[in-house]
Amino acid sequence: MSTNVRVRFAPSPTGFLHIGSLRTALFDYLIARTLGGKLILRIEDTDKKRQMEGAVEGLINILAWAGIKFDEGPGYLRAVDNDTQADINKDVGEFGPYIQSQRLGIYKEHSQALLKKGGAYRCFCSPARLEEMRAEQQAQKMPPRYDRACRDLSERQIAKKIADGEIFVLRQKMPLSGEIIAHDELRGDIKFAARDLEDQVLIKSDGMPTYQFASVVDDHLMEISHVLRGEEWISSFPKNILLYQGFGWRPPKFIHLTLTLNKAGGKLSKRQGDVAVEDFRAMGYLPEALLNFCVLQGWHPSASAKAPADKKDEILSLDQMIEYFDYQDMGTSSAIFEIEKLDYFNGYYIRQKSVEALTKLCLPFLGENLKLTKDSRKQSEDYIKKVIALEQERLKKLSAIGELTEFMFTDDLRYEPKLLVWKKLTLEQVKENLQTVFELLEKISATDWTRSSIETALIGYIEAKQMKAGDYLWPLRAALTGRQSSSGPFEVAEVLGKEESLKRINVAIKKI
Ligand code: GLU
Repeated sequence: MSTNVRVRFAPSPTGFLHIGSLRTALFDYLIARTLGGKLILRIEDTDKKRQMEGAVEGLINILAWAGIKFDEGPGYLRAVDNDTQADINKDVGEFGPYIQSQRLGIYKEHSQALLKKGGAYRCFCSPARLEEMRAEQQAQKMPPRYDRACRDLSERQIAKKIADGEIFVLRQKMPLSGEIIAHDELRGDIKFAARDLEDQVLIKSDGMPTYQFASVVDDHLMEISHVLRGEEWISSFPKNILLYQGFGWRPPKFIHLTLTLNKAGGKLSKRQGDVAVEDFRAMGYLPEALLNFCVLQGWHPSASAKAPADKKDEILSLDQMIEYFDYQDMGTSSAIFEIEKLDYFNGYYIRQKSVEALTKLCLPFLGENLKLTKDSRKQSEDYIKKVIALEQERLKKLSAIGELTEFMFTDDLRYEPKLLVWKKLTLEQVKENLQTVFELLEKISATDWTRSSIETALIGYIEAKQMKAGDYLWPLRAALTGRQSSSGPFEVAEVLGKEESLKRINVAIKKI
């Protein structure tokens, strides 16, 4: 396997990680791992407007939480390895700095080299002139595009403008005719007519590079072999290829990922709700579920020759993804974001957790419930663990655990007496049945208070008397939980304990 495979994830630190970016990072990771290469984190922060304090650290933290491990990148990567002695100012890797705002000298040097080679030119057009030009183009129903007014300025004209202190940008000099063929690993050759390409800005008037310039320079200098990015970049793809040619560099392999769309077929944006991985974490989604969800947005194990033929359930651990994934099997049709599917995966991974691990994960979501009781037993770790185990099967999101288990903590269960009524029973019959249940359960000793002894006592009675199970078990379950739906009465009674269970049955009897 080639060791020259180097894949980069190059996010802009906007203050949160979009779920679509997590998908890109995951595919970057899978390409690097499956091809025996390295994964590099590069921060694209040259757009000052979009920057936020602490955003880089936040980005690295959430990626680490999600389980994406980088081989190279900013020194802060050391901090997430729990190494408290780590020097977070020292890059991880030899190709740094990995933060673009720390590479401005590199861009300057390369832009001057490109200027000398004739691949770029200075444009002195003022924003006002460009605005006027655009308005005119719009009026004539022409595509808005720079009219190349500065493309053929003479050396003397340029020198004079610079001497006069006129500010300028650097623009890429596109060929005027012909065809550019850009090769995408999934889509094959894509042809573009040179006449459709704008002389795009490479360096802004403040000296900052645009994405188009910085990413090409960095991908080359960081010896990136595979560039995976969203399909919104296909329109600038030929310009990137021309830039590589202008420098005399060999371009990396490009893979353009399809967009993830919402169900209505539109773009997934922050405005429509939760798209930030940070939000999903806060709602109690597990990283395993998010990664499993993301990998299916653009790839499927059924396309893999390496996945077992019966791999239809779509449940994939990160190790299985690495085993089965091949970027050449990735699809090119858009993926749809189905939250129900994410919930399904989350429920699955919650069920896979040990009770200990799940309890730890649930604790931050249980705080309010613990305040509902004065009983120290109900606040003990052992009790909490049993309560979590009771709900593990039904739990879809960690954040739901509070609501789901409230009844297990409260000292004051509130519900209407009619909740206790099963089918056609009268309240009087319910009361009698609860009294019978109370007497039967009272006979079980506290040390023998288990799910099965409770079940044996009650079912034994019901069968001997040839009664209907629901006539006793519904009122009991409702009395113990105060809820329309919950786990079964035997499990709940076991966890509540004898004293609390009898107390709740008594309260129910008195309610009638
Ligand atoms: N900074 C770009 C973005 O966040 C990266 C695109 C790329 O991977 O080249 O969209």
